[in-house]
Amino acid sequence: MGRAFVYVILGGGVAAGYAALEFVKKGVSYGELCIISDEPVAPYERPALSKGFLLPEAAARLPSFHTCVGANEERLTPKWYKEHGIELVLGTGVKSADVKRKTLLTTTGETISYKFLIVATGARALKLEEFGVSGSDAENVCYLRDIADANRLVDVIQSCPEGNAVVIGGGYIGMECAASLVINKINVTMVFPEEHCMARLFTTKIANYYEEYYKSRGVNFVKGTVMSSFDFDSNGKVTAVNLRDGSTLSVDMVVVGIGIRPNTGLFEGQLTLEKGGIKVNGMLQSSNSSVYAIGDVAAFPVKAFGETRRLEHVDSARKSAKHVVAAIMEPDKTGEFDYLPFFYSRIFTLSWQFYGDNVGEVIYYGDMSGSAFGAYWVSKGHLVGAFLEGGNREEYEAIAKVTRLRPAIEDLTELERQGLMYAVTVSQKPAALPPVEVRASDLLLEKPLYAWHATAGVIIAASIAAFAYFYGKKRRRW
Ligand code: FAD
Ligand code: NAD
Repeated sequence: MGRAFVYVILGGGVAAGYAALEFVKKGVSYGELCIISDEPVAPYERPALSKGFLLPEAAARLPSFHTCVGANEERLTPKWYKEHGIELVLGTGVKSADVKRKTLLTTTGETISYKFLIVATGARALKLEEFGVSGSDAENVCYLRDIADANRLVDVIQSCPEGNAVVIGGGYIGMECAASLVINKINVTMVFPEEHCMARLFTTKIANYYEEYYKSRGVNFVKGTVMSSFDFDSNGKVTAVNLRDGSTLSVDMVVVGIGIRPNTGLFEGQLTLEKGGIKVNGMLQSSNSSVYAIGDVAAFPVKAFGETRRLEHVDSARKSAKHVVAAIMEPDKTGEFDYLPFFYSRIFTLSWQFYGDNVGEVIYYGDMSGSAFGAYWVSKGHLVGAFLEGGNREEYEAIAKVTRLRPAIEDLTELERQGLMYAVTVSQKPAALPPVEVRASDLLLEKPLYAWHATAGVIIAASIAAFAYFYGKKRRRW
């Protein structure tokens, strides 16, 4: 038994949904595109699972968060795929791939062949067993990667009202789930090996802000240690978490978020891998010219950093999906993927965004005892990363723009003094202008190629005036 398609997307997550929409926008013909997913539902916005999905009231449920609502685009229900002649093969895994023959073999025994394959298999959650601890299959131990996990987590939360939870891991899943558990009136202790939460991205100072906020909401932190074993009752439920530092925490439930591994297994030995993912070029094309990779599984060249990276965030999944469709359907009109890394999170009433890279010296701005603050990262004389908590839309756009511009920074003290205003000012200047340098005395042009000094002066003066007004009104201390 077999079917043939021009385009096959392997995986039915975020990247698959955004790629499908782009295929339709670019005029894919009826019957040309097939999506194969081992999940039983059409592509959805995975970030909802640790946020809206876990709310005790008015929780998000499908079909409300099918892709592509997360980017304010159309919501692609199963009906949409049908109407556009896209074959959605759900609840079906691919168990082997043969890139020479251009075929995939599914768990139902069907062989599906393609002209172009887009690998969008995402990643799987790491299990405790991979760290030498057993007990992951206990009914009150939860992971969170897909909708089945999320449904299970909701059941476990509801089974222990006002109970005690231990959250293992201080990364994205740990932080977002801990917040959701607190909102569900569960008492939370977070356990992780690092000195502070979100160690991959946050500095100690930034982490401290969030940890203090979490503590104010009743969360306990046990840092610098890992769990060594579980205690179970006679029904096999976990009753306690034993830590390597010798302490024991009584629990009603456990949530584990200790990182992921990209789903590359089908292609090992067939495609070049790098950074744990499938290595692709600027057109998102792998070492086999008929096979492309996007989303969490793809290791792609990040132009701004001059190196290959694999990102694990929804914005890169969405944008790489859009780009790959253009690269396949309109190769002559499509340039290389030029992506500025963007991460965000929303926890309790807090909300932050980060753009670029977190390397080099860190310059903080704003009021870390208030509701809004941020940081810049400066490496080799250029601003390469920016973080902002509690900003508004214009301010987030400003830090995104300034990071993309990578302006030369000569004086870190002056950058610190200007704070967010620096991003706002630089982002407001006309796009064609060269990067602005910050000096001790004033804002100066690096290379005054254009006669725009007067305009710049007006913009800066206006910005400062606007800022002064804004400052006075909002009482923010940038
Ligand atoms: P996925 O969305 O994981 O999709 C992969 C799909 O492939 C899945 O459907 C999987 O079942 C399927 N698949 C895998 N192997 C096979 C196979 N052999 N056969 C068939 N199907 C297969 N990022 C943010 O930037 N902000 C957030 O707030 C945020 N929140 C998150 C919350 C949660 C709970 C999780 C788990 C992730 C979150 N992320 C967030 C990360 C973001 O969701 C991922 O980066 C994004 O989903 C990656 O998209 P993808 O399509 O590459 O992979
Ligand atoms: P992560 O990489 O963000 O964090 C993993 C954490 O595991 C580390 O911070 C560390 O504290 C902990 N850890 C590692 N080994 C451990 C051990 N032996 N014992 C205890 N803790 C240990 O991964 P995650 O939090 O599991 O998130 C999974 C994926 O989901 C990631 O790809 C992440 O980017 C994505 N995600 C992203 C967002 C977002 O962007 N807002 C939200 C949720 C999930």
